[in-house]
Parts: sequence; structure tokens; C-alpha cells
Amino acid sequence: MNSVINPATEEVIAEFPMADVAEAEAAIDRSKKAQREWASLSLNERRDGMLAIAAVVDANLEELARLESSDVGKPISDARGEVAMVANCFRYYAGVVDKILGETIPVDGGVDMTFREPMGVVAVISPWNFPLPIASWNIAPALAAGNSVIVKPADITTLSTRRFGELVATLNLPANLVQVICGPGRVVGRVLTSHPGVAKVSFTGSTATGQDVMRSAADTMKRITLELGGKSANVVFADADLDLAIKSAPGAVFGNTGQDCCARSRILVERKAFDDFVSGFVAATESLKIGDPADPETHLGPLVSRDHHSKVSSFITDDAVLAGQAPDGPGFWMAPRVVVDPDLTSRVVTDEIFGPIAAIIPFDSEEEAIRLANDTIYGLSGSIWTTDLGRAFRVARAMESGTLSVNSNSSVRLQTPFGGFKQSGFGRELGLEAINGYTELKNVFINTQA
Ligand code: NDP
Repeated sequence: MNSVINPATEEVIAEFPMADVAEAEAAIDRSKKAQREWASLSLNERRDGMLAIAAVVDANLEELARLESSDVGKPISDARGEVAMVANCFRYYAGVVDKILGETIPVDGGVDMTFREPMGVVAVISPWNFPLPIASWNIAPALAAGNSVIVKPADITTLSTRRFGELVATLNLPANLVQVICGPGRVVGRVLTSHPGVAKVSFTGSTATGQDVMRSAADTMKRITLELGGKSANVVFADADLDLAIKSAPGAVFGNTGQDCCARSRILVERKAFDDFVSGFVAATESLKIGDPADPETHLGPLVSRDHHSKVSSFITDDAVLAGQAPDGPGFWMAPRVVVDPDLTSRVVTDEIFGPIAAIIPFDSEEEAIRLANDTIYGLSGSIWTTDLGRAFRVARAMESGTLSVNSNSSVRLQTPFGGFKQSGFGRELGLEAINGYTELKNVFINTQA
């Protein structure tokens, strides 16, 4: 039995049985049948099916948001926005169903064309920080391309995804088109990453588990997409609109209580603006409201679990400046902390913390900023703040990162590809690009000389 704990109160809010190996294997068999049925429907039927999923999410937005908020400890205002994004994600990919294009290629002696074929059964292994949104970023393009899906949410945060699965099961879609299976990653996840009946695994989580998924998927040559850790840089030049950069930087690292693979946890600031930035950043952070996730005014909730709280606590050093006040009492609370000008080899600079701790590091030149930004095993996201257009392009092209924004801290838009360089993973979620990760490319040559 798995007990679901509300991280803001430490109360058990749900209990459910965990699936085992046999149940995971049975789900894969059911999924194969569902995939054949789904792929044989007309384009309009598949599009309408995906629009029905969007509509059922919209109709149950409040319930799904409350489940996400109480399970993850996420502020309800964030959870509502995220569930709205889930519905929009299905709407976006509903529009893609009849726009998955091939090419005709000039060749001698005939006609050559490409087709993007469905892969089959897709396994989506999702994390606990944005459970339903991240699952949807993979379920929706997989369905649009004609695949069936089995989702395995992280076992500490299953509630929203389980409810989503129940809601989808009420729709007039092939039975078992989207199955949600809850069980430990090392058991159920392992079945999905090794079973020959699964064609593709889309995994979001830690780099270490991502490496395990790769090893496990190798034997059956599964296609994989990995969206892993990050240690993203927020690069602030002295010529930037500093007020705007300061105002938005705390949300970019402390949003979701720092449990975000795109958290801009290394803030690189040009020395001329360093002191002003640090004092403004600490003041802006102190104004964030930490507390009850059910309160619409709350900016930061607790960390997701006791284990995670103790992992993040191990990064707190004596030189970390406390910026805010966490509630007393039960709950896995942690107020933001800021480490100013740390040793560049310290763990706070090199490791993904996944909690509310930011490092602010000075630099003296554009070259040094680029060198520092790239001095990490990760390459997921990042920001550049400057009013010099040439510099914005130079630095954006030089940064080893898959997803960058200029004078903004946004990383995710449904229409644009999202994913990492280096050990942040490979493959891309979202946008039209994601469809390439859910289709096999087939080339057909027709001899016109015969
Ligand atoms: P994991 O990477 O272990 O978990 C992510 C998902 O993988 C969960 O659904 C988990 O299931 C599943 N899983 C675990 N082991 C296996 C396996 N051997 N085979 C297949 N699936 C597996 O993350 P953690 O929860 O342990 O978090 C650790 C760290 O990972 C965080 O502190 C953070 O640094 C990073 N992380 C990064 C995320 C991102 O968005 N890139 C998201 C979450 C974490 P289950 O939990 O049920 O075992």
C-alpha cells in the first residue's frame, strides 16, 4: 500500500495499492491493442478524441489543481495555471494530428517520399515536481502521432495523474489508450524500460535514473527521450533593465520551491551591478509569501517530501543568507537562501539542488560570463539580461543550453521545443519537434522506370 502524504501538513491524504510486474506487463499487452485501434481511426476522430481530453481536463480543472496542490505542496494558483496548460497541450497537439508531414525527395529513376509512422506503445515515466503537466507534454504528442501511452507517475505524487487516467477512461476513446500505472520506479518503471512490447520511453527525472533508463532500454533498442537535471545560469549584464531582472530572478530560482529542472540557480551578475543586484534580489525574495499552498496568495509551498527536505538541507552552509520565513510546525518547509560569491568548486555551484538555494556569482567580462555559464555538466535552460541586441545573440549562441530566453525567465511554451544539451538529456518535448520523437521515419522509393 502506498500512502500519499500532504507535504504541507504531513497528513496521509490517500492510500492505494502499488502495481507489480505482472500488472505492468498486462498493461503493455492491453496498450498494444489500443494502439492498433487508435491508429486505425480517421484523422478527424483522433483530433476530436484529443479535444475531448482537453475538454475533460478543463471541466475538472479545479479538482485536478487541488489534487496537485495537496500532493506536491504546490501553491494552488500555480497548480491552476499548470492544469490549464495541460488542457492547452492536448488542444495544441489535436491540431497537429493532420499536419504530420513527410517529404518528397528528388532522386533518379523514381519518386521518393518519407512517412512518419507511429511507434506503438509509448511509456511516459514522469517526475514529482510537475506531475500532470510533464506527463501531458509527452502523452499529447505521442497520441497525436498515433501511439498509445502508459504513464508511470512518481510514486510520491500520483493523485492528479491517476485522476486524469480515470477521466480519460470515461471518454469515447479506444479502451486503455491512456493507462496510468502506479508503482515503484525500480519495479514498474524497470518493466516499462525493458519490455520488448514498449517501443519508446520518455523519461523525466534525475540524471542518475536517466542513465539507468538508457542502460535498461538498450537491450531492446528502445527509442528514448530524456529530460534530466539542470544547473541553469541567469546571466545579468550591467546594461540590462536591472529592476526587471531583479524582480523576476527570485521566481526563476525559487518558483515551485526550487524544485524545477529549469531553476536558474546560478545567477551570474556583472560586477558593476553586483551589489545593487544582490540587495535587490534578497529584498524581492523576502517579499515572497511562504505558506499554505491552498491560499491563492501563496508564492512558495513546502518541499515535496521528508527525504527531499533532508537532501536539500545538506546544501545549507553557514554563509547562506536566509531570505524569508518558513512556517513552523508540521510540513517540509524551507525558506529561500542566497549564497553570495561562493567558491566556484562548492556543491552549491556545481550540483543540482532542487530546492530554494541560489548562488550569486560576479563576472567581469562577456567572455567570463559565457565560460562560467558553460562550466557545468548540465545544459537545460538559462536567461540572458541585456539591452545590447548583438550581445544577446552572441551570448545565446555561445551558451551550451537547449532552451534560452533573453530578458525573460520563461523556458516552456507549448509551441517551442524544450530539452537539454550535455547531461541534461536528449530529445525534445513540445512544439512540432516533439512529433519526431514519437514517430519512426520511413522512406519509400517508387521505381518509375519499370
Ligand atoms: P527519479 O529520477 O528517481 O524519479 C523520476 C521518475 O523515475 C519517477 O517516476 C520514478 O519512480 C522513476 N524511476 C525511478 N527509478 C527508476 C528506474 N530504475 N527505472 C525507471 N523509472 C524509475 O527522481 P527522484 O524522485 O529520486 O529525485 C531525485 C532528484 O532528481 C531530484 O532531487 C532532482 O535533482 C532530480 N529531478 C529532476 C527532475 C526534472 O524535472 N528533470 C524531476 C524530478 C527530480 P518512483 O519515484 O515511483 O520510484
